[in-house]
Amino acid sequence: MSRTIFTVVENCVACKSCEIACAVEHSQSKTLAGAILETPPPQRRINVEGVGAYSYPSRCQHCSDASCITACPTGAMQRDCGTDAVFSDSNKCIGCWMCVVVCPFGGVTADQSSKKALKCDRCPERTARGEAPACVAACPTGTLLYLTPEEFAAQRRQATARAAVCGEQPAQTNGMDILRSLKGAN
Ligand code: SF4
Ligand code: SF4
Repeated sequence: MSRTIFTVVENCVACKSCEIACAVEHSQSKTLAGAILETPPPQRRINVEGVGAYSYPSRCQHCSDASCITACPTGAMQRDCGTDAVFSDSNKCIGCWMCVVVCPFGGVTADQSSKKALKCDRCPERTARGEAPACVAACPTGTLLYLTPEEFAAQRRQATARAAVCGEQPAQTNGMDILRSLKGAN
């Protein structure tokens, strides 16, 4: 079963390391020092949203039944058959923003400089090398995890067991990620 990104919401401390790592991964140089100097600046595909005293790293959920793919009039929004990730082909994107309108998660950004749709592509170059997506690798608190559903469930069982035995609080998780990954699992 393929791996996907899970979110353990209560671990997020709003450090925004994921935002920076995402922008660097989508830069020309793929280095922080180089990315800072690039024009136009590289854009992130993840946004850390504040909700009262809490924060949530929001990004595309790569939905099984993706409304952005259905709404796109040019076929720019597609699913990668190998990784199951939804991505936008910038050569086909005409900047009509239909994907932005229909996405229930705000997962697509209308980039005004390029006039192209920007979204999480789940870091295909990194994952092809067997590495975790950049945001996951950069997260210092374990909020973002790149696991198979079985691996994630095993972690949850351990957390629940620790809570029962030691009185630790089990982490809250993003149920939408779990549902989507289970639906999309091979
Ligand atoms: S998986 Fe890659 S593209 Fe998606 S939010 Fe994380 S760093 Fe950005
Ligand atoms: S890197 Fe992790 S802890 Fe920091 S803002 Fe992103 S998700 Fe939250």
